[in-house]
Amino acid sequence: MQSDLIIIGGGAAGLMAGCAAGELGLRAVVLERKHKPGRKLLMCGNSRCNLTINISAERMLQMFGDPVGPFLEPAIKAFPPSALQRWFAANGLKTVVKTGNKVYPCTENASDVLHFFTDFLRDKNISLACSAVVQSLEKTPNGFRVETDNFTMESRFVLVATGGVSYPKTGSVGDGQKLAEKLGHSVTPLRGGLVGFEVDQKTTARRTGQVFERVRLKIISVGKEVAETRGTYEIEKWGIGGTAVTDASRIIARRNLQQYIFRIEFEDGRAEEVKPLQPRSIKEAMVTVGGVALGDVDFQTLESKKCPGLYFAGELLDIDGPTGGYNLQAAFATARLAVESIAKRCGKAGFQPLEKPAGKVPRSGKRAGKTSNHWKR
Ligand SMILES: Cc1cc2nc3c(=O)[nH]c(=O)nc-3n(C[C@H](O)[C@H](O)[C@H](O)COP(=O)(O)OP(=O)(O)OC[C@H]3O[C@@H](n4cnc5c(N)ncnc54)[C@H](O)[C@@H]3O)c2cc1C
Repeated sequence: MQSDLIIIGGGAAGLMAGCAAGELGLRAVVLERKHKPGRKLLMCGNSRCNLTINISAERMLQMFGDPVGPFLEPAIKAFPPSALQRWFAANGLKTVVKTGNKVYPCTENASDVLHFFTDFLRDKNISLACSAVVQSLEKTPNGFRVETDNFTMESRFVLVATGGVSYPKTGSVGDGQKLAEKLGHSVTPLRGGLVGFEVDQKTTARRTGQVFERVRLKIISVGKEVAETRGTYEIEKWGIGGTAVTDASRIIARRNLQQYIFRIEFEDGRAEEVKPLQPRSIKEAMVTVGGVALGDVDFQTLESKKCPGLYFAGELLDIDGPTGGYNLQAAFATARLAVESIAKRCGKAGFQPLEKPAGKVPRSGKRAGKTSNHWKR
């Protein structure tokens, strides 16, 4: 079978890429290693699926920080959080803005998002092959040859969207990074981001289960405050978690900090210092820090600089964001930019701008105007 585009991976980025290919009239197929697509999507936001955060593209890029924000600029500006919400609404999935500007499907049920994607693919005649584990990807004179355990396919373009390596039971096991390496790309070390920390028992003794809202967490390294996060602070049996802590883990991984302590400032003015022993396993992390090196990818199109015709989207790239919908937004936006770039190469027009809604975006929750996490720069 010959197609314009093979999309490897049926997660958030791959499913969105399939929809985009259908919208732009490409002949495309999505190959997914698990027996069902979108396993990680179903876990998102405690199965409520925090799709994005209702803030401007500029603010979002600032929150990603360097070097991720500048790399994502063309993708997020072309498909910002407002456009994502309009796109879902225009195609039948209503969304709602909740506390902290977090956007969810109105039903707050991740399986509705997955059904939305699979219905969309079916309506646009985009094939989705499950239990199709891509084993090899080779360049041919006219494009690429993709081999799975059971069949071989060829296409002019390939988009790799196989995700990171966290929660490997969802299918993201680092295959795409290996395929990319074989085709000459650098892969930066894979570390866990958005994960809790183990601490000594003194910190957790008789406090397990306590949750503190709206704390400020200062990361202090070699006597200097290097970053601040805000959010919840939770004492668990195994250590400390909550959004202020998990966001700190991502900053520590990205900056490769070796020595650090946390100064936690509570709402009532109290403060405590905690010396984390180590982050929890990458298998428990919500995001992977590291991936296909950004320098090997053209950020305007998401095409490889090493292997023309090969594109990347989603978490397999060395991109990661804070909690709150940033990571799905990055997966969706990079998928659309990559497919639009491929469509243009196939002589198709790009996306038509979506109509702005007449009314306001639906909101609920008391503090919808505030973001709960913050990366001091
Ligand atoms: C518990 C949890 C909760 C989260 N909650 C949120 C949230 O609420 N909001 C948010 O923005 N982000 C959230 N995230 C992060 C978000 O889920 C990821 O950033 C996002 O799913 C990345 O999308 P992706 O398509 O790049 O990768 P994935 O969603 O991981 O998809 C990759 C797909 O590729 C497939 N694949 C891998 N190798 C192969 C192969 N060889 N052949 C074929 N297919 C292959 C995998 O099976 C998988 O389905 C959460 C993550 C976790 C773990």
